Amino acid sequence: MSNLIDILDLSVEEIDGLISVANDIIENPGKYAKACEGKILATLFFEPSTRTRLSFESAMLSLGGSVLGFSEAGSSSTAKGESCADTIRTVNCYADIIAMRHPKEGAPVVAAKASHIPIINAGDGGHFHPTQTLTDLLTISRHKGRLNDLTIGICGDLKFGRTVHSLIAAFARYTGIKFVLISPEELCVPEYVKTETLDKKGIPYKEVRTLEEAMPELDILYMTRIQRERFADPAEYERLKNSFVLDLPKLENAKPDLCIMHPLPRVNEISTKVDNDPRACYFDQALCGKYIRMALILKLLAETPMLLSEVPETEQEEMLINKVFCENPRCITSVEQEIDHIFHYTDKENGICRCAYCEAQKKI
Ligand SMILES: [Zn+2]
Repeated sequence: MSNLIDILDLSVEEIDGLISVANDIIENPGKYAKACEGKILATLFFEPSTRTRLSFESAMLSLGGSVLGFSEAGSSSTAKGESCADTIRTVNCYADIIAMRHPKEGAPVVAAKASHIPIINAGDGGHFHPTQTLTDLLTISRHKGRLNDLTIGICGDLKFGRTVHSLIAAFARYTGIKFVLISPEELCVPEYVKTETLDKKGIPYKEVRTLEEAMPELDILYMTRIQRERFADPAEYERLKNSFVLDLPKLENAKPDLCIMHPLPRVNEISTKVDNDPRACYFDQALCGKYIRMALILKLLAETPMLLSEVPETEQEEMLINKVFCENPRCITSVEQEIDHIFHYTDKENGICRCAYCEAQKKI
């Protein structure tokens, strides 16, 4: 691996390796202060996300490297109509590694195909955000001392929240995991996450409608934001936004060693009165985000890049190139006309295939 597009690009062993390097960085920061001297990280943010960008930049600067980039598409040549692939080819001349965020799903796959230097997906629309998941795993491992045998409550927008889907996919590979999914009915976990991940791997889960009924059994409580932009109807957002607010009374029946997490920024999902409770781990989580990104940058720069376009011939036979067309309006293929539409069969007998960029499913 020389790119990180999806958390599942990393094996459990590789994740353990990153966590152990991150822990070593936390204990011996001096040892790593010049590890990336002379190296440049480009942060290409086609949509703004100050928090994630600062975390990447702080990580690279703490390794003794340098950073350059842009923080919104309006200030890049994309605004003049340049393709994502051309932007990446140009930046290849100026940097050693790229962290990119893009509003369209699958844009990092396009980037990785055009790039000779490692690409880190810093979020592609509502699709993947693997460095957030790595951050969550490091935080949990530091607070609980393990990633197995945990009852994990996830609360809020479980329908659109990409951090939620990645977290479930990542924990599905560990043992002794149980999920408690806490959401209003309108925002519950999509059916495909249940069938393709939870049921397939035999992971026990239950769905509840209130924080109170979930609380006593939880080792981890992962709170998420209900995002205004995910709602077509603003009145629906106003009705639901206060439904699942964590405050001190709701914590009364919680375990004394519960770990409360939130990917931040919070709007009002967690009362500020909870901040001083020793179980609040969300600010430590932000710090963990920097250390795990340092470990990831070190790992990717040490590996020999493999061009994603170098797909073995045997795999190419299973691909449908420009035979099936993606209709997902959030897919990168919807805005960049010159990209080949590529689908992979997931169930050839029944003619089921998935878009190589956004994973949209289609029956042919
Ligand atoms: Zn697609």
